[in-house]
Amino acid sequence: MVQKYGGTSVGSVERIQAVADRIAAARREGHEVAVVVSAMGHTTDELVALAKEVTPHPEGREMDALLATGEQVSAALVAMALDMRGVRAQSFTGWQAGIATEPVHGAARIEHIDTEALEAALRAGIVPVITGFQGIAANAVTTLGRGGSDTSAVAVAAALKADVCEIYTDVTGVFTTDPRVVKTAKKLEHVSYDEMLELANLGAQVLHPRAVENAKQFQVPLVVRSSFTEEEGTWVTETAQGFEQRHIVTGIAFEREVSRIALIGVAVGRHGLASVFGTLADNNVNVDVIVQSVVQEAEVDVSFTVKDDDVDKALRIVRGLQDHLGYTDLVSESGLAKVSIVGAGMISNPGVAAKMFQVLADGDIPVKMVSTSEIKVSCIIPAVQLDAAVRQLHEAFLEQEVPVAES
Ligand code: ASP
Ligand code: MG
Repeated sequence: MVQKYGGTSVGSVERIQAVADRIAAARREGHEVAVVVSAMGHTTDELVALAKEVTPHPEGREMDALLATGEQVSAALVAMALDMRGVRAQSFTGWQAGIATEPVHGAARIEHIDTEALEAALRAGIVPVITGFQGIAANAVTTLGRGGSDTSAVAVAAALKADVCEIYTDVTGVFTTDPRVVKTAKKLEHVSYDEMLELANLGAQVLHPRAVENAKQFQVPLVVRSSFTEEEGTWVTETAQGFEQRHIVTGIAFEREVSRIALIGVAVGRHGLASVFGTLADNNVNVDVIVQSVVQEAEVDVSFTVKDDDVDKALRIVRGLQDHLGYTDLVSESGLAKVSIVGAGMISNPGVAAKMFQVLADGDIPVKMVSTSEIKVSCIIPAVQLDAAVRQLHEAFLEQEVPVAES
């Protein structure tokens, strides 16, 4: 098995001792274990701040060299703690573990893992304790993007053909929604990769989206559980079971700090859309929901959402393209949020979106934009009404036993 421990789980010496006890117990039960660790507590944030004190624009190569040190501290300390318990262990940095990435700094993808060193350690009865979040490309240290240790763990589990990848964190599993917003949120026993991928992309913080993507691709069963208790966690596998099969909606995810920009009366036939979104992408502005509607034959209205932080930059770009686009009006609105319902059961059950709109309408919550996929519906609403929306949707979709129609 692969066990991954997040920042809070290795956040102090006491936590590291507790983690070592857990790994030692798994060894005693006869499991072959490889461990992947995050940096201690807020170390990565502190390293980012340190670099910013030296220069406003740290170079990618050196930034990665700096950030990668956080995980090295935890890997070495966990290996020492295991040693003290009579469990043979060795720390491995990304390159020592054979983790090769694409040559990109700050958000590299893992391309390949040469497992020779890890397998030799395992054969010798040694627990490899591997730094998450990093690899090597063209002889330089690379990092995988914030939260990337989950992805490291899944990649190691896939490469070693592990039976399971346990993701240890500070919550006891994946919940129907954030328990800080809805007290009656329930821990899910089981959730499918597809649902988890939507939930992770839509704002659930518990797993890194790329980790879920890789787990699905390589069919690595995941368990999300707490390193603070013995409680069973949430399984993430190909098909959902139990509670999730009885409910059309499995979870409710949300994101705050959303802004909407609307271009009114864009002249069509000028490649306008391509140039707006191309220029935004070139400037690293992430666009989320896009809605386009034809008003008259020669004109369209286009609106899209960005994070609040990006709205000024996005407006500057759109204004710069005014001549090219020929829009008549430009409107922007901040202080919005996105609330999403997710569930594989939607595929075979019509009327889910209608019910969502009804619940929001009953709560006097205006819906500004909508986007859907096979297994999710997202609505852009005012941020001040987000908590109320989440509570009402949770009650309507998850607290009543809603039998899934037989298909
Ligand atoms: N330490 C890195 C971060 O804080 C990677 C991780 O924890 O997954 O983003
Ligand atoms: Mg994380």
